Amino acid sequence: MSQLISVGNAGAKGRSTFAKSLIRSGTLLTDEPPLLKIPYEHPNSIRYNLRVLESFSQLTDNDKATFLALSMNEGEFTKIRGFFLVNHINMTERDVAICAIFNTNAVRMGPDSNANNGTGVFLKYCRMNHSCAPNASYAVHSASGHMRVRAHRDIAAAEEVLVSYTGDLIQSKQERRKDINFDCVCHICTAVDVASSDARRQRINAIMHGTKIFMCRQSRLITTIRAAGGNTALWLDQILHGAVADGAIVPTNANEALTLTKERLSLLGRESITGPELILVWGMLALVYRLLGDNEKSFKAMLMQDMHGVKCQGRE
Ligand SMILES: [Zn+2]
Repeated sequence: MSQLISVGNAGAKGRSTFAKSLIRSGTLLTDEPPLLKIPYEHPNSIRYNLRVLESFSQLTDNDKATFLALSMNEGEFTKIRGFFLVNHINMTERDVAICAIFNTNAVRMGPDSNANNGTGVFLKYCRMNHSCAPNASYAVHSASGHMRVRAHRDIAAAEEVLVSYTGDLIQSKQERRKDINFDCVCHICTAVDVASSDARRQRINAIMHGTKIFMCRQSRLITTIRAAGGNTALWLDQILHGAVADGAIVPTNANEALTLTKERLSLLGRESITGPELILVWGMLALVYRLLGDNEKSFKAMLMQDMHGVKCQGRE
């Protein structure tokens, strides 16, 4: 894999990962075990930080040096030092730095935040920078615990390999800033007309939630729950109405759902978003075509969904 990518200088962003030659969409770029891993603990707990220090102490001297050379967010350092102080725990500056480096670079290893798979730092992955229009996506393989990064679109020779540090790219620049905890300098965030990008992402979100509500309302299960009445029906209506109040654009019929979902697909293109978000939109198109009785187009949309799934996640 090292013949595909190399670490180099990315100017103000520090070190980053670059394609050595043209990398085709779907190519596996890394498949690496964690350098440092801790079992699941609630983040920002004493146990979490003590686990980090315990795992670090078990590394070889070489791996310790490699870990300490990783980048550290100064904000994390201040936060962790304050955390230890208010909990009356005496820590050396080096211990605080180890925890801060861990927090700066670690990723949750499960498919969701409640998963009990722990948190890890992956060397090759943490040398990949963030972009709000990334060209690669990552997942921790559940059986091996390895981090796998894949190009989800073609990456040109010498182009930077970019992943997303936020689980939700379809937010405004300000909301993404809150998630990633630093000022992103990607081409979306530094564009002159950031407001237009924000408006497009907001509309993608509104369509996504609205079509979900529409499809939910088509479900026979919903009709059954409504007919049964009681608390579950009340709860369901509260959820659906709450989402509408949040600005979701809810189609009134299947043709409108189709027009809006096609618009969502086109807006993702305008925002250069080519990753897992495409899996979702093609999946929705497949459902809408099915609702319209166009099984051929539904099948084609499903194939597109599968193709994007393989590009982002591989075949297993
Ligand atoms: Zn950005």
